Amino acid sequence: MYQMEQFDVIVVGAGPAGLLAAGSAAEKGGRVLVLEKMRQEGRKLLITGKGRCNITNDANVSEFIRHVYPNGRFLRTAFGLFFSKEILELLQRYGVETTCERGGRYFPTSNRSADVLMALLKWVNEKKVDIRCGMKVEKLLVENQIIKGVQANGKEFRAGKVILATGGKSYPATGSNGEGYELARSVGHTIVPVRPALVPLETGGNLARQLQGLTLKNVRATIWVNGKKDGEDFGEMIFTHFGLSGPIILSLSRIVVDALHQKSAVEISIDLKPALDEQKLDVRLLRDLNEAGKKNISNLFRNWLPASMIPVFLKSLGIDPGKVGHQVSSKERKSIRNMMKDFRFEIKGHRSFKEAIITAGGVATKEITSKTMESKLVFGLYFAGEVIDVDAETGGYNLQIAYSTGFLAGRSLKQL
Ligand SMILES: Cc1cc2nc3c(=O)[nH]c(=O)nc-3n(C[C@H](O)[C@H](O)[C@H](O)COP(=O)(O)OP(=O)(O)OC[C@H]3O[C@@H](n4cnc5c(N)ncnc54)[C@H](O)[C@@H]3O)c2cc1C
Repeated sequence: MYQMEQFDVIVVGAGPAGLLAAGSAAEKGGRVLVLEKMRQEGRKLLITGKGRCNITNDANVSEFIRHVYPNGRFLRTAFGLFFSKEILELLQRYGVETTCERGGRYFPTSNRSADVLMALLKWVNEKKVDIRCGMKVEKLLVENQIIKGVQANGKEFRAGKVILATGGKSYPATGSNGEGYELARSVGHTIVPVRPALVPLETGGNLARQLQGLTLKNVRATIWVNGKKDGEDFGEMIFTHFGLSGPIILSLSRIVVDALHQKSAVEISIDLKPALDEQKLDVRLLRDLNEAGKKNISNLFRNWLPASMIPVFLKSLGIDPGKVGHQVSSKERKSIRNMMKDFRFEIKGHRSFKEAIITAGGVATKEITSKTMESKLVFGLYFAGEVIDVDAETGGYNLQIAYSTGFLAGRSLKQL
């Protein structure tokens, strides 16, 4: 006869949140089962940071919280228990040396996300966690608002504690395709509407397409919603065949996605020369045009713009690229200056969940106890990681949310 298996804790999902939850519960002596529907653990972790894995950030807790939406304070207890120092120490114990780069971003010194995953797997294996891949959890078993276990691949697994660490909805090919939201909803939880966040943006016209592949560094991007300034960021961006991407665009995408969903008119203006105000820029342009009066402007502007941008720039301003410096009228010079300070793109849309780094929205935090990560609706059900309605900017913050909430959920299993 089929024997139902009994565990102390069942963790659903073997991403960073699930592995941290499993390891921390097992450290307390529990018999822990992890059910992962993919054939391999941590598929998404492997592609983080372009395969290098931006593990965490050296910001302090208050700074960290400022990078988290919509309510970073929800994470105070989780961060207090297990923060960047703790994950870096854990990884080091299992052989991963780390390097802190620009912006306080930690990466494995080997630049291999696989080393981070291997270290986490070594840790949970040492704690005798039972991980079963290819097991899709279809149902949470709840009686009288008390968790009893889960059903996966048609089989029932029993435990008094279940930790849902199923991730979000972005990059669904990695396994996190939003199923966790349905599991949570099925037992009464509210799901704050999910939207792609940290997502590339689609522009109108074909200006961006003409510049595809071009990376701009040290530029300022400003968002305009219905003609009003609604945010800005400084740093690096890239033009693509559909529009705009790169760090500053991804970080501004949160405002844009919400504005587009409200049917607002959205534009992004790129300041290519943020270190110079309009007046200074005008003086310098005038000086260069005079000094090199006989030089072709396509060559002359190499001091000012990346080479591939010059023909696109001049064409969109209707200026003959064959002109020499002293043939450029003051009206044309002003239009060049204006475009350098305000290179504008109409934003028509955003890419889908398939290309979003993170999912905004998820299980409502007001229904989760922040001190333990336990559900306020179902006794013994816990949440960890991206499935919860918290998400952050790029910089290692999102993975830290996964480790911290996972560790706290695992550690909060009081009765083990
Ligand atoms: C391209 C990309 C790059 C990124 N780079 C970084 C970075 O460098 N630094 C950073 O901080 N963040 C980064 N992120 C974000 C980071 O990957 C996520 O925040 C993090 O993986 C969330 O961890 P998680 O454990 O909550 O979810 P996931 O890592 O998504 O893991 C959830 C797991 O649950 C499993 N699962 C889902 N449903 C079921 C089910 N029904 N039954 C069983 N198993 C199930 C999934 O298969 C998956 O393995 C990146 C994301 C992407 C897409």
